[in-house]
Amino acid sequence: EAKSRGKGHLVVFAQGLRLATEHRVQLESELRRALRVGEMRLTYQPIVELSTGRVLAAEALLRWQHPERGLLMPSDFIDVAERSGLIVELGGWVLEQAAMQLAHWQRCGLTELHVAVNVSARQLRGGFITRQYDHAVAASQCDPTCLELELTEHTLIEDLDDSVRLLHELRRRGVTLAIDDFGTGLSSLAYLKRLPVGKLKIDRSFVAGLPHDSGDRAIVTAALSVARAMELTVVAEGVETPRQARCLRELGCAQAQGFLYGKPMNASELMALAIAGATEPPSDSRPQVLLP
Ligand code: C2E
Ligand code: MG
Ligand code: MG
Ligand code: MG
Repeated sequence: EAKSRGKGHLVVFAQGLRLATEHRVQLESELRRALRVGEMRLTYQPIVELSTGRVLAAEALLRWQHPERGLLMPSDFIDVAERSGLIVELGGWVLEQAAMQLAHWQRCGLTELHVAVNVSARQLRGGFITRQYDHAVAASQCDPTCLELELTEHTLIEDLDDSVRLLHELRRRGVTLAIDDFGTGLSSLAYLKRLPVGKLKIDRSFVAGLPHDSGDRAIVTAALSVARAMELTVVAEGVETPRQARCLRELGCAQAQGFLYGKPMNASELMALAIAGATEPPSDSRPQVLLP
């Protein structure tokens, strides 16, 4: 009895696997088509100066406007793109679009604004990223010193020697390199010494517990202290409340990104925000008293 039930479970399990595989294969071919017919979109999330709320940069975040299933998030398709290798082509498209948008903003007079693009491990390995970067810059005619590339700790420590070499190649082109989701990589900090990065983005899981969680506070403080010693700029990710923002300011963090300042938005909304200046007044400024 137990044996036959066990067998039944195995069948269900195998069917589940097959479905998962079929789903994956289908999603992959749909994604290939989506890229060709133009269903992919970029949204832009503001990155602000914590002391003023001024928009300094925008992170380009990928979306898929699916004809039947609506707007899909990276968590719905990035994994399939990574496994199939399609992420290389997708990443090239993202870089090209983002550079084009940056060039447009620069022509509109937003010459200080930076644009950050996420780079996957597959793009880095095999030197794809340098070619894609050169192509995007040449095609868009953007000022490349305003482009930033974000790489996760996982990506970089996968093959550290290779990363060091590739990042130097990119650095020589004037691009700013940032470590994304900093603190989630379970790695020693020694790798930081070897990489020509200019920026750390503290993962939002450590920002979530501010100001009260003593563990989060300790981790953020430690990251800020390492960054200061190595002259790296720090961005706190996932800032959602004025209290988190205030705490980060007090701890000496320079930049922030999060729903408090703006969700990912379309390019024209981002541009309006960048022109308008501050998105949120510093919370330590006194409440406005209206005089009669
Ligand atoms: P990421 O690079 O760490 O991007 C930040 C993510 O955090 C974004 O999610 C953003 O919407 C979300 N976020 C920002 N502020 C807040 C906040 O205050 N609260 C909360 N709860 N979330 C916040 P999104 O757009 O879903 O992207 C998720 C991840 O997908 C990105 O994480 C990045 O790793 C990946 N991704 C997105 N676009 C691309 C791309 O073009 N290429 C590659 N390779 N990966 C991408
Ligand atoms: Mg990122
Ligand atoms: Mg991140
Ligand atoms: Mg993240």
